[in-house]
Amino acid sequence: MTFKPANQIQDLQYFGEFGGVNPSISDSSTYTFLSAKTMFDTFEGNADGCYLYSRHSSPSNLYLGEALAAMEGTETATVTSSGMGAITAVLMQLCGNGEHVVSSRTIYGGTYAFLKNFAPRLGINTSFVDITKLEVVEAAITKDTRVLYCESVSNPLLEVADIRGLAKIANKYSLKLVVDNTFSPLSISPKKLGADIVIHSLTKFINGSSDTVGGVICGTQDFIDELRNVNDGAAMLLGSTMDSLRSASILKNLRTLHIRMQQHSKNALFLAQKFEGLGLKPVYPGLAAHPSHELFKTMMNEAYGFGGMLTIDVGSLDKANTLMELMQERNLGYLAVSLGFYKTLFSAPGSSTSSEIPEDEQKEMGLSHGLIRFSIGLDADIERTFEMMKQCMMDLKILKAESIEG
Ligand SMILES: *Cc1c(COP(=O)(O)O)cnc(C)c1O
Repeated sequence: MTFKPANQIQDLQYFGEFGGVNPSISDSSTYTFLSAKTMFDTFEGNADGCYLYSRHSSPSNLYLGEALAAMEGTETATVTSSGMGAITAVLMQLCGNGEHVVSSRTIYGGTYAFLKNFAPRLGINTSFVDITKLEVVEAAITKDTRVLYCESVSNPLLEVADIRGLAKIANKYSLKLVVDNTFSPLSISPKKLGADIVIHSLTKFINGSSDTVGGVICGTQDFIDELRNVNDGAAMLLGSTMDSLRSASILKNLRTLHIRMQQHSKNALFLAQKFEGLGLKPVYPGLAAHPSHELFKTMMNEAYGFGGMLTIDVGSLDKANTLMELMQERNLGYLAVSLGFYKTLFSAPGSSTSSEIPEDEQKEMGLSHGLIRFSIGLDADIERTFEMMKQCMMDLKILKAESIEG
């Protein structure tokens, strides 16, 4: 039977303290005990259902974590105050001094900067590889490697990781396969394809309203327990705890994720096909021209499509900047980083979200100055959006009139 992630969320049932249809928000940082003995047991993690202190756990955070674990099909999950809070906790839990990570070279700029510049201070070194070449990935593994790290669909180049193939390699060398699934929630279920740990920045599609920063780590009960251990757990001790009010609001937004993803994907596919028709060479995993289009199809939960992210290269940073400014002026979206909003968001990653990556490395991985990354919005009339975007490109002579007639 195929995995139906949206059903997993829908089938959860929670009630509030007074029979409310939403779980009550626990608005306390600390909890009282009738017996001192229970307090000790709770601190040690041996008293189920008791709460001690909200950095350790809180009812609202557990509800959100359970819903996200259901979505990803993992035993459990723990939420964090940001996506980076999730990523850094996982990497520091799995690797120590002298150990090694093999990572995709096309990853979120913050993750790249952490692995490249910060983790070496802890004695953790990383080899960055082209994740689409399994033989290159395997060749980078050393006796000290502990983690294979990738994004299912990479930021910003939209490269697609072969999660089944990577899981085989991880198994062979007893590594943990850690997958950041921020770009493809519901569309791809990495755990079902063999990933050990699945991470999201909740800030993006999952929350979907660009009002909150958050993250989640989905994995086995044993791993999540390790992360939360009061003596040596990275999630516990590094302190990136989500606030209960925020987790309650993200849980409410999670319920419409399946509808939003369908609309993001439908709109992005429409624009990608139209841009392709204009000769613009968009990059979108839903296009047959994408090098990993067939691979994506073998991994996807079909109902949710190929996601809401696409890129086009308009040739130079100057052109990219003027186009983005004009599109914003005409209210086609916002010149802003981040993704998963109801409005289209666009940015030039080479000079923003991926600027942590040195220029020569950007060049090598194919990240050009004229690249614009779009997070396509929930536009009700995407045809109108397309016509207006086309007009912007014609006005700026990015598109020439003859290429449109032809
Ligand atoms: C935004 C993002 C992150 C970081 O998440 P924050 O919530 O900003 O800390 C990590 N990975 C990917 C793919 C992202 O897009």
